[in-house]
Amino acid sequence: MAKKVIFAASEAVPFIKTGGLADVVGSLPKAFDKEKYDVRVILPKYRIIPERYQSQMEYVMNFYIELAGKWVYVGVFQMQLDGITFYFIDNEYYFSGDRIYEDGLWDLEKFAYFSKACLNTLSAIDFKADIIHCHDWQTGLIPVYLKNEYWNPNNYGDFYQNMKTVITIHNLKFQGRWNIDDMMRITGLGAYLFTSDKLESYQAGNYLKGGLVYADWITTVSSVYADEIKYPFYGEGLDGLIRARANNLTGIVNGIDYDEWDPEKDPMLIQNYGIGNFAEEKVKNKTALQEELGLTVDGDRFMIGLISRLTDQKGMDLIDCVIEQICSEDVQLVVLGTGEARYENLFRYYEWKYHDRVSANIMYDNTRSHRIYAACDAFLMPSLFEPCGLSQLMSLRYGTLPIVRETGGLKETVEPYNEYENTGTGFSFANYNAHDMLHTIEYAKGIYYNRKKDWNGIVKRAMASDFSWAASARKYEALYEQL
Ligand code: ADP
Repeated sequence: MAKKVIFAASEAVPFIKTGGLADVVGSLPKAFDKEKYDVRVILPKYRIIPERYQSQMEYVMNFYIELAGKWVYVGVFQMQLDGITFYFIDNEYYFSGDRIYEDGLWDLEKFAYFSKACLNTLSAIDFKADIIHCHDWQTGLIPVYLKNEYWNPNNYGDFYQNMKTVITIHNLKFQGRWNIDDMMRITGLGAYLFTSDKLESYQAGNYLKGGLVYADWITTVSSVYADEIKYPFYGEGLDGLIRARANNLTGIVNGIDYDEWDPEKDPMLIQNYGIGNFAEEKVKNKTALQEELGLTVDGDRFMIGLISRLTDQKGMDLIDCVIEQICSEDVQLVVLGTGEARYENLFRYYEWKYHDRVSANIMYDNTRSHRIYAACDAFLMPSLFEPCGLSQLMSLRYGTLPIVRETGGLKETVEPYNEYENTGTGFSFANYNAHDMLHTIEYAKGIYYNRKKDWNGIVKRAMASDFSWAASARKYEALYEQL
């Protein structure tokens, strides 16, 4: 019989997305061996999920659960997409906001509710999961509630007793922290759980810490990041716990959906291309984008793309430091992103200053992101830390060479160009230093302009590298077996 697995998460493509977490939760389930694994996904039914999906959801049932002494409503909806069953937890009180993440304490209450609702839904629909796979702090309380309330045979018989939990850290920076009194009040969890070996961390309650303590296994999204978070610099205050649980921690690198991200078939591109004809065809995307964005139209011009949340994590302070030098006459810079006002304004200013070569698209736009991945020659991603990173994988797939800092998933997935051995799929620098980054950009530019044959060799290797989900899904399967 197929092993039953349920993914619990706060976002998933194509329904709702704020970051890479959604890509993973929406695409990984499709990559499992369907004969051996029945993988389903459970999400909040946010009001802002587009109507075209809402209208396809079928009502399943409703019931009430107890949360911190109150009885609250749980509606369950479901829909099938690409062979995967998605369940949606309906509660208008919690999920009718304009954004999926709102204010601190409110979000904590929302996801405490969601965690309990997920657990109760399993028995309500009679899906006796072998594995509950939780993602990030929003579902950190699932292992906590499971082992402290749902395992108790007086409450639920043996329904929950053999369930194992896995928690995946997509970004250790976000932990779901708040003062302990409020957290006890909204979660209904007892004071005995808020000790330093459980949910307490630096005098606050911490959802993610609860998940990391109570889950049977911890994964994170690259092996480099799995090692990095054992040290204080990357550990976000939890490095001690990560070290203590190092024997139950695995790094499994993310993939991307190779059907959605396929330069040969992508319907959003002006010109499709593949590994056999990129040298002639890819450039048509560049000139079309130059026209669309009002940049100087010149297929030979070195074009750098940047698609990112505009925050310090993504290395924006390095770019801020040397943007004048990056935007030299022989370069075009195309930015797509939103984030901190100072970075949004930085790029707006440079677009105003150099409108022929800088384009600042301060917005979220999926179609434009596909076109930028296809159009550019290089893709800049100088992150301070990067658990996995997906944008560099999309760039590799589209033959747009990543220029990255050697951290986390960037270090794991981008092999730096070695001109002596003719190996490598991109460019990288080690220290978090603006001039090291600038030097690497200059080096890449030199190869692009002066050694086109070598450049095309790198592009070919980048496009041939395989970061589809298949290999990673096998690793998750092996982990489920071992549990
Ligand atoms: P994060 O830390 O934000 O999750 P990732 O690299 O893992 O970073 O994933 C970011 C994803 O979001 C990529 O698919 C990227 O293309 C997409 N993305 C980021 N910003 C935008 C934007 N402004 N418009 C469209 N897509 C974006």
